[in-house]
Amino acid sequence: MLPKVKTPQYSLILPSSGKQILFRPFTVKEEQILLMALDDNDDVQIRALRQVINNCLLSGNLDVMKLPIFDIDYIWLKLRSKSIEEVVTIPFECRNRLPEGEKNKDGNDYCGTIVNVPVNLDKVEIKKFPENNPKIELQDGIGILLRYPTFENFEKLNKALETNGVEESLEIIMDCVQMIYESSGKTYEAEYINRDELKEFFESLSQIHFSKIMKFFETLPVVRHETHFKCPKCKHEVDIIIEGTKSFLASDSVKNL
Ligand SMILES: [Zn+2]
Repeated sequence: MLPKVKTPQYSLILPSSGKQILFRPFTVKEEQILLMALDDNDDVQIRALRQVINNCLLSGNLDVMKLPIFDIDYIWLKLRSKSIEEVVTIPFECRNRLPEGEKNKDGNDYCGTIVNVPVNLDKVEIKKFPENNPKIELQDGIGILLRYPTFENFEKLNKALETNGVEESLEIIMDCVQMIYESSGKTYEAEYINRDELKEFFESLSQIHFSKIMKFFETLPVVRHETHFKCPKCKHEVDIIIEGTKSFLASDSVKNL
């Protein structure tokens, strides 16, 4: 029998809870599962990602589907860093304006030099925003306590933020209600609230209340990295912020500054 290659172990701090968890890199077989899913629909991609993350997390008892989406994004980048490469390069196009009347070789009035900026995925952290408050005060002492959307809610959230539709937004909000409370101290835990009743509650809210609630979903924690860009041609310098998993991994698309 051939000898077995031991898999290394790494640890990361789960952004939502601050707990340390252990993981191993994904294997060639698992990478194939991911690659195959790439050409398929979102459903299949989510299932593949879930399976691979599940396999690689060594601190059991973590339900991947119940983790906040930013935890998944974070785990994914760290997992990829240890499985494929720590440093990814992200191409940026220098948009420094040329002096009046000058054009670059493509006929544009900016520099246009493309620079590959290296980013170490191990250095990417989660950025939390102070305005991301899960406790929403409505009026007359009535309020809502929300929780972060999870991997399970991923598709619904994307749809809600893309379409800005009330129906889609309502669905995701209802999924993310932790409780409704009154100033008297009376609380209504989500698991005991009837869905139709909850819908009626939200449909009776004003637009102002509704946008207060949506603010929570628009300012969720995000994977983020700040770095510096210096153009070798025109010496233009600028700080850049890279945000969201897609920005880190889509190294084939040029970003503008
Ligand atoms: Zn330049």
